[in-house]
Amino acid sequence: MERGRGALGPALALVHTGRAPTRAVLTAELGVTRATAGAVAAELEALGLIQVDPHPIAAAGSQGRPSHGLSIAPHGPVVLAAQIHADGFRAALVGLGGRMVATAPGCMTVPADPARIIDAVVEAGAELLRATRRRCLGAGLAVPSAVAEPDGTALNPLHLSWPTGAPVAELFSEALAKSGVLGPGGTPVTGVAGNDVNLAALAEHRHGAGRGARHLLCVATGHRGVGGALVVDGRVHSGSSGLALEVGHLTVNPAGMPCHCGSRGCLDVETDPLAFLTAAGREPGPAVSLLQQSRDLLRSEYADPTVREAAELVVDRLGLGLAGLVNILNPDRIVLGGLHRELLEADPERLRAVVADRSLWGRSGSVPILSGTLDHNSLIGAAEAAWQPVLDDPLAALG
Ligand SMILES: [Zn+2]
Repeated sequence: MERGRGALGPALALVHTGRAPTRAVLTAELGVTRATAGAVAAELEALGLIQVDPHPIAAAGSQGRPSHGLSIAPHGPVVLAAQIHADGFRAALVGLGGRMVATAPGCMTVPADPARIIDAVVEAGAELLRATRRRCLGAGLAVPSAVAEPDGTALNPLHLSWPTGAPVAELFSEALAKSGVLGPGGTPVTGVAGNDVNLAALAEHRHGAGRGARHLLCVATGHRGVGGALVVDGRVHSGSSGLALEVGHLTVNPAGMPCHCGSRGCLDVETDPLAFLTAAGREPGPAVSLLQQSRDLLRSEYADPTVREAAELVVDRLGLGLAGLVNILNPDRIVLGGLHRELLEADPERLRAVVADRSLWGRSGSVPILSGTLDHNSLIGAAEAAWQPVLDDPLAALG
């Protein structure tokens, strides 16, 4: 049944993103007959990916007839997800539905040799696979750098002291082979690598605050610098070679701080955690990440006028940057992550007012600005990239 096979990927994507909680909804969403939807659901269940409730249930508040519930198979396969940032790394196993099955935080200073930390994060993930005995279908890595496509090289890993052009995707696949991470058919898993904010945006679009948006703009600052991403019709807008939406070097303060790009007053250096701590007159300490220090300051000392004024300064500069992006990209939703999310929550009206005031399309107040809702969205996004071949063609991906 070719018709049915072509529907497997779309059907899996619907269950994966929570848009098909029952077989009746799946039938309607796919626009196929009940028999075809039933066969497709049974095939995905036979592949070990989803679970079909044997007893039909009545949907809450629905007048329709009871239908079989669909959910992610509770002990189904996983992918290995890894994230490297300025303060260390984390590895996790992530199932369908964006569910983190197991995670191993590992914090260390990031060595200048990318192979060493990639080996370490992959070994942490391989240990999780051995401990949980889960079947692995892929692997994804999030890094704080633009990643050129299709070669998978990190072009500006400025806050990691890695060499420009480090071949991260290749190093990742080599590390997976070394650690014995095997995929379908017992062959080594091929790793995919991407920019951390691109991947976070993908995760928020599928499982978080970006669900249902058609032109989703994400801007975030996690550890150092600022990243941006645009998800159009469910796919990250990558530009001609993976480098689109390098928003960190928009000028938001012409007389501002010098930036490593050679300019000054860039979003990157004016709105990241270090900029906020500096504006608040705080000396950053080594104990916890700059993001955590900023978050603690905002949450516990916002009543202090120095802290509030620093927050307002950073919010105004972030608002300028967002307004420029709204004019150019015309998004239907903006989702903020990291410190930007904290700043939005500290004073939602101020940020929305700056964006409305400074943008042509934002003036009507029609662009919702929301906080990201996923913990570890870059990690979940790395998993999404690894799941993509399965979502595109489950039969082919499972060999
Ligand atoms: Zn710059």
